[in-house]
Amino acid sequence: MGRVVLKFGGTSVGTIEKIKKTADQAIREFEKGNQVIVVVSAMGKSTDRLVDMALEISEHPSKREMDMLLSTGEQITISLLSMAIHEKNYEAVSYTGWQAGITTEPVASNARILDIDTEMIQAALDKGQIVIVAGFQGVSGEGEITTLGRGGSDTTAVALAAALEADKCSICTDVVGVFTTDPRYVKNARKLSQVTYDEMLELANLGAGVLHPRAVEYAKNYRIPLEVRASHEIEVGTMIEEEMTVENTKVVRGIAFEDKITRVTIHWDKKRKHARIKSFYNARRSQY
Ligand code: ASP
Ligand code: MG
Repeated sequence: MGRVVLKFGGTSVGTIEKIKKTADQAIREFEKGNQVIVVVSAMGKSTDRLVDMALEISEHPSKREMDMLLSTGEQITISLLSMAIHEKNYEAVSYTGWQAGITTEPVASNARILDIDTEMIQAALDKGQIVIVAGFQGVSGEGEITTLGRGGSDTTAVALAAALEADKCSICTDVVGVFTTDPRYVKNARKLSQVTYDEMLELANLGAGVLHPRAVEYAKNYRIPLEVRASHEIEVGTMIEEEMTVENTKVVRGIAFEDKITRVTIHWDKKRKHARIKSFYNARRSQY
């Protein structure tokens, strides 16, 4: 029997209709004879809305309370997804980060995972349940709810795949894979069938928003085969692995860029004895 971790991002679970489709995807994997763990993000842009509400109250909200607030987004999705699976007559159970045994550093808003105690998940899988885990959250040794940084559900998925020794971790998203560059800007950008961990790490760190860089780091360290694919379409995505079997002669695999970056160069004027701005450069970098 195989074991797979599927992760669905905010857009993929943005409406009740999409949550029902996500339930179908989980059941599809289960019907293939796999044990299935599903990690989900908060619905649509709900994390942004929670941040906005906090900022309406305070310019500098307490980081602890921000973690408390933002972790609620994922909790909504896990329960609804579990209900959607029940409705299709399959067994499912939802767990928050702490219930799933995810212990993190005691750092608010950007904690790293330290350890995962898989006992509860394991027991549920053994009972034949589809296990649904809230992404982006854990608990510190002191019992405080922590979050893993924006986009952190990818990291939850890969960390769970490592701890549970899953055969594969699929990141199901609103793009069909990793492209040579941002297809929104470059019409003839191509979907890559494979990328190595190191190449993906570079692309992710340079701003290719498709994956959380820490998730790629984790996948590389634990050698987890990582797939990026479309959530609700049956189309082969991109595999991120150590070894390339195709296109392994390419020197450049892809190009990443970011926008909304401003570079200011300050120059010390010897004559006037004060600093002045030498250049001001407003680069267009995209989020990909
Ligand atoms: N909901 C969180 C965010 O919007 C985590 C995630 O989506 O991965 O950043
Ligand atoms: Mg994301």
